[in-house]
Amino acid sequence: MRFENSREFARELDRKDKLAGYRNEFIFPRVNGRDVIYFVGNSLGLQPKRARKYVDEVMKDWAELGVEGHFYAEKSWWDYHERFSEKLARVVGAKPAEVTVMNTLTVNLHLLMVSFYRPTSKRFKIICEEKAFPSDQYMIASQVRFHGYDPEEAIVEIKKRDGENNFRTEDVLETIKEVGEECALVLIGGVNYYTGQVFDMETITKAGHEIGAFVGWDLAHAAGNIELKLSEWNVDFAAWCSYKYMNSGPGNASGCFINEKYHNKKDIPRFEGWWGHNKERRFLMEPEFQPEPTADAWQISNAPILALAPYLASLEMFEEVGMPALIEKRNMIVAYLEFILHEIDKQVESTFEVITPSNQDERGTQLSVFLHGEGRELFKYLMDHGVITDWREPNVIRLAPAPFYCSFEDMYEFGQILKKGILEKQHKMKKEA
Ligand SMILES: *Cc1c(COP(=O)(O)O)cnc(C)c1O
Repeated sequence: MRFENSREFARELDRKDKLAGYRNEFIFPRVNGRDVIYFVGNSLGLQPKRARKYVDEVMKDWAELGVEGHFYAEKSWWDYHERFSEKLARVVGAKPAEVTVMNTLTVNLHLLMVSFYRPTSKRFKIICEEKAFPSDQYMIASQVRFHGYDPEEAIVEIKKRDGENNFRTEDVLETIKEVGEECALVLIGGVNYYTGQVFDMETITKAGHEIGAFVGWDLAHAAGNIELKLSEWNVDFAAWCSYKYMNSGPGNASGCFINEKYHNKKDIPRFEGWWGHNKERRFLMEPEFQPEPTADAWQISNAPILALAPYLASLEMFEEVGMPALIEKRNMIVAYLEFILHEIDKQVESTFEVITPSNQDERGTQLSVFLHGEGRELFKYLMDHGVITDWREPNVIRLAPAPFYCSFEDMYEFGQILKKGILEKQHKMKKEA
């Protein structure tokens, strides 16, 4: 499609957008009396209006029923988490039995490493990407030390080539081959948080299995963003947070995928608690642990119902719309944003460099942009003018127009504000010179 950098054109795209109505399902922060242009759905998704109803429902049940809410609440609490598995399975391409919600992301990755990182003196290495999200780095290093190994030796980072912004699949495969039989686990962020690059999870999972390693994925930036087929790709395990693209609320619960081939396997250890126990017999308080025959066996504590309530509200919207429709709009709005950036770049004496892959199959909702010659003050200008973005040192802004609630007109408007911000600064500098 030939795009145009005009409000009229952007509005026309909005008129044709089948998801346009969903914008009104979310609550936007306001700056200068207007809804913001929200580019940080990759950090904390906006609040769905219906989330409050779900939370209120739990508060009401708690008030009226007390402990009886476990069984007699309209959405009973003892099995509240089970309401997620089918819908969430559709979001990540899994079987319902392979998916569960519990705890938070880094906690779950630790718990999954209890099952899938069991190093021996011959096979103890973990392959991850260089400059992984800090929490993942800390988690992996602490696991390695916990098992008595040296992170320097046990952690092998996949590197980018000098001068390149993204990882090459061939380099990932090469590293996997090199580490070979010493590799216990491959654990990578499925979508890189800094650049938005999508890894070829199917190919990498296969390569990891060929050398006899387990392969897990941190899907923090992938769930609700890109197409996932965890079962088909034969991934061993994965976990994601729900507060980024899945709009569940700050710090909210994590989803987990555990391949069904590991359910009911005695040789896969696990940290256990009563919520993983056979649900029919859970309240009999028997001494012997009988695992649920699903990913729910990894549950430990009873579920935080007040946290799950807004997540469930949000998940129902994913169910209504479906990932294919979200991805279709995502591709269009990201392409339009990319076009706008190039247009503005031509109009000002500045050089933007989009470091996210230009190929649609290798990216999701996020465009990371190097603003050469621009500093933090531009970021502040954007914030002051109602554009919420995210700044990473040295001078990268990350822009993630979530297809659920961002409009094409937002992209146009953003371009205008960006241009004004750059021109005002250039004008000021010329005056001072
Ligand atoms: C957001 C994010 C996290 C956050 O972890 P929490 O345990 O939810 O605080 C971890 N890893 C990656 C890759 C992320 O993007």
